[in-house]
Amino acid sequence: MAIPSRENRMNRSKRFHIQTFGCQMNQHDAQKMANLLFHDGWAPADQVEAADLVVIHTCSIREKAEHKLYTELGWLLQRKQAEPELVVGVGGCVAQQEGEALLRRFPALDFVFGSQNLLHLPELAREAGARRRGLRVDYDDDPQARFELPELHPEFASTSPGRAFVTVMEGCDLFCAYCVVPRTRGREVSRGSDRILAEVGALAAGGVTEVTLLGQTVNAYGRSRPGMAQGEIGFADLLRRVAEVPGIRRIRFTSPHPSFVSGDLVEAYRDLPQLCPHLHLPVQSGSDRVLQAMNRRYDRASYVDIVARLRSARPGIALTTDLIVGFPTETDADFRETLELMREVRFTDSFSFKYSERPGTPAARRGLGELDPAEVQARLLQVQALQAELTLEAHRARVGGRTDVLVDGQSRRGASHFCGRDPHNRLVNFSAASDIAQGAYADVTIDGYTPHSLLGREVAPAR
Ligand code: SAM
Ligand code: SF4
Repeated sequence: MAIPSRENRMNRSKRFHIQTFGCQMNQHDAQKMANLLFHDGWAPADQVEAADLVVIHTCSIREKAEHKLYTELGWLLQRKQAEPELVVGVGGCVAQQEGEALLRRFPALDFVFGSQNLLHLPELAREAGARRRGLRVDYDDDPQARFELPELHPEFASTSPGRAFVTVMEGCDLFCAYCVVPRTRGREVSRGSDRILAEVGALAAGGVTEVTLLGQTVNAYGRSRPGMAQGEIGFADLLRRVAEVPGIRRIRFTSPHPSFVSGDLVEAYRDLPQLCPHLHLPVQSGSDRVLQAMNRRYDRASYVDIVARLRSARPGIALTTDLIVGFPTETDADFRETLELMREVRFTDSFSFKYSERPGTPAARRGLGELDPAEVQARLLQVQALQAELTLEAHRARVGGRTDVLVDGQSRRGASHFCGRDPHNRLVNFSAASDIAQGAYADVTIDGYTPHSLLGREVAPAR
């Protein structure tokens, strides 16, 4: 018998669909929005065409991400001409940044809500049903209010079987010269650790074994800041307490900032087996001059020192990073320093981006302009080619080893093949003698690799 789809199982008449762009914080916010709508009587529609309400959940980190909103919105508002009952809302970072201007520019758009106004989504959707347009982009007077959302229904709690995100802090006070986040997400606020631990406990009780702690500068957690719950703990202590929650086998976090990699955090890598041997630590550039112009607050030597301390605390730890090429004034010599740093650290993987000028950022205000686009594109390709070499080298070094894989499901490689992530956050495709459930762990020997994954076979059921 066919398993009924989620929308049919829920048997509700009103259906929503959320289209999310951007980072893991956005993905998790989309889960929170779905949960809020569900509590207000809505059911999720798997296909956008079946939805009565469509929310576009936007990202404005680079211009390209912002353009996706306008493409999607154009298409939806055209559909709305034929289906006037369709409700369309825009949330997330572009909504926060543009606010009322979006409503003015798109007269058929029903509502706009910012990144700290998720709680208002059900009410905005109801008002839109009564043909009243809405705008909520204000910041709450109580900074903790944004964390006071209803517990996630199991339907929305996991990103994939066995794994879940948990928000520990929000906002950013660092104002890197290129970055729009402090403007779209507001000031840095840490969530009370009692709430975090209660959420992790509930997730573990529901079968989650891997949690990813989220925050824009997640390892700044617990810094003394207005709005932070009193008498609170620092990030390394938080990790220690999460590791004590029964059932939690793996802890990850994103995005950390190099300035807050404390001695305590390095020790946590030494002491906590649950803390995965992988750190995504954005460096952005290998040139001290560019790092300073970016207002990154660390230099190349201190980044390399963090890497050495982490590798000594946890040998074999996989390090990945973010890189920006073509920041205004970046010279060829600056760029070569980035390539050298990549070779020195031997990143297992990286996300690399061309600098994109964002409205209201310090770099945009300085009016430094942009470099020759052809030169920037050539730099990006060089970074990507070098990274491909480094990734292959990291994969080659894993052959012959054993790893434990949290299974996401069947692999596209065929029957009896599965895929999942290992503790180093590498994608592993492997064969197994019998079926393995999503969310289970498999003990795998690695016997090969591709540019994007490790290949192996299950040696013994570790379930
Ligand atoms: N908080 C993290 C940190 O401090 O590194 C970064 C979070 S940001 C959402 C993700 C990545 O987007 C950054 O690490 C940076 O590489 C990239 N990014 C941010 N603003 C950018 C811009 N204006 N142009 C190009 N890339 C950008
Ligand atoms: Fe943006 Fe810098 Fe804050 Fe990261 S630390 S979110 S790059 S301003």
